[in-house]
Amino acid sequence: MLTHVVFDADETLLDLRPAVTAGLALVLEEMRRLTPAAAGVSLADLESDWAAVFGAMSAAPTLEIRRAALARSLGRAGLEGHLDEVAALFFARRFALTRPFPDALPALAALRERYTLGYATNGNSRAERCGLAGQFAFEVYAHENALPKKPAPEFFAAVAAAAGAPPERIAYVGDSPGLDVHAPRRAGMRAVWLNRTGVPRPDDLPADAEEVSTLAELPEVLARLAAIKA
Ligand SMILES: [Mg+2]
Repeated sequence: MLTHVVFDADETLLDLRPAVTAGLALVLEEMRRLTPAAAGVSLADLESDWAAVFGAMSAAPTLEIRRAALARSLGRAGLEGHLDEVAALFFARRFALTRPFPDALPALAALRERYTLGYATNGNSRAERCGLAGQFAFEVYAHENALPKKPAPEFFAAVAAAAGAPPERIAYVGDSPGLDVHAPRRAGMRAVWLNRTGVPRPDDLPADAEEVSTLAELPEVLARLAAIKA
């Protein structure tokens, strides 16, 4: 029996990339306003600073990773002292523009008729700040109460505890094969991989891990999953 469906946030329900790009563009604009030394800094530089810092700090809270990436970017133009104000600009723009993909709210409405819905993320996309207020019976955020990030087993134990259901009754849905399919399956949950962009299916993804290209496919796929394993 399947009673609960729990969602990853960023790039699953939430179209994060345009919001982050717009946030970084605003940061760059502010850097150039502050100093001519920023004229040679590009958006690609700011994006590469995130990638470089994320590699070294992946287990840290996303907010800290973003601040470290912004500090690195500001350092490119001698603007290290402006971190707090620039971070505030970035996060205001990022949260103002982070919104659900067009298929998200209709899928949640359809699934809610049959399942209890949850939201569980490694990142800092608070549901209520991103157009998802009131959509879930429970929400789990890494780093609240010192909860480790996915793929830690503790993260999925916290999801099951928040659901009040054994893991085998829970399906986790997300865009990352490692974090959203392998990790919840290790915790005893079912998993559905959301492959929005049609990338090749990873060889190590188990044959019985379902794959969808849009959230609109979920009601049918989850019903099948529940029936097969019943
Ligand atoms: Mg994701």
